[in-house]
Amino acid sequence: MSLNSMPLNSMPLKSVTQIIAAPPPHWVGDGFLVSPLFADHAFQNGISPFLMLDYAAPRQFKPSPKPPGVGVHPHKGFETVTIVYDGEVEHRDSAGNSGVIGPGDVQWMTAGRGILHEEFHSREAAKRGGVVSMAQLWVNLRAGDKSAAPGYQDIRNADIPRVQLEGGETRIIAGDHNGVKGPAKTFTRMNVWDIRLTAGGRAELPLFEGDPAILAVFSGAVAVNGEKLVGASHVVMFARGGNRIAIEAKEDSQLLLLSGEPIDEPIAAYGPFVMNTQNEIRQAMEEFRAGAMGVL
Ligand code: MN
Repeated sequence: MSLNSMPLNSMPLKSVTQIIAAPPPHWVGDGFLVSPLFADHAFQNGISPFLMLDYAAPRQFKPSPKPPGVGVHPHKGFETVTIVYDGEVEHRDSAGNSGVIGPGDVQWMTAGRGILHEEFHSREAAKRGGVVSMAQLWVNLRAGDKSAAPGYQDIRNADIPRVQLEGGETRIIAGDHNGVKGPAKTFTRMNVWDIRLTAGGRAELPLFEGDPAILAVFSGAVAVNGEKLVGASHVVMFARGGNRIAIEAKEDSQLLLLSGEPIDEPIAAYGPFVMNTQNEIRQAMEEFRAGAMGVL
């Protein structure tokens, strides 16, 4: 039998290395009550190219003339990926980009050599009040890409392809699922897949041998690789070896699967800056103080 005709389910699974419970949530500004789901693994090479994942579970906000959120702040050396599930997020940055993203939309911002931005509930949605839920993923850049020009990709729900699963679907925000390609332009190869399964639904997901993989369970409960049962607000870490994972939903579940070519370079992270060395962090702070990251 040739390798090409080998069925997917005869290939090795990426084994589960750890299941992490989400730390308690904290407020980002007054708009986003987030749990940092990667916990102690954040800003470590074990989850490369990803740096951290904040998840804001659905939360009801009262109508307000003043949108809740977080005011002007800098970023440098990486990318922020904001996925809105409920409500609307309004963004404005020093590169001149602005936009309102709603349910299913994604904002992929490249901080690169430095940017200032602000992130609020949209003015209109704040006036109405209602439920807001979102995730923000930080994606690292290679040393040579940390000086890239700031960028902004406004990715609409309608432009994100869907792959049907048994009892659900996955939206391919970035990467490639058997030839179905996500719209996000990335500096390094990665998969960012937004997965919904109804109870009893199942998926066998093809990934690259050698890539770390992380499955965030936002809600519901899933069995992973036919053995480990994982509940809401947990993250599953997988070994780099193997080239697929298997998921079966025990309840209606909302998941985010992350996998990608690791960037095996030193990480120096301080607040909104992610560089390779402490000296570069000091430089970033000086650039910010000197106004070199632009004006907003
Ligand atoms: Mn930010």
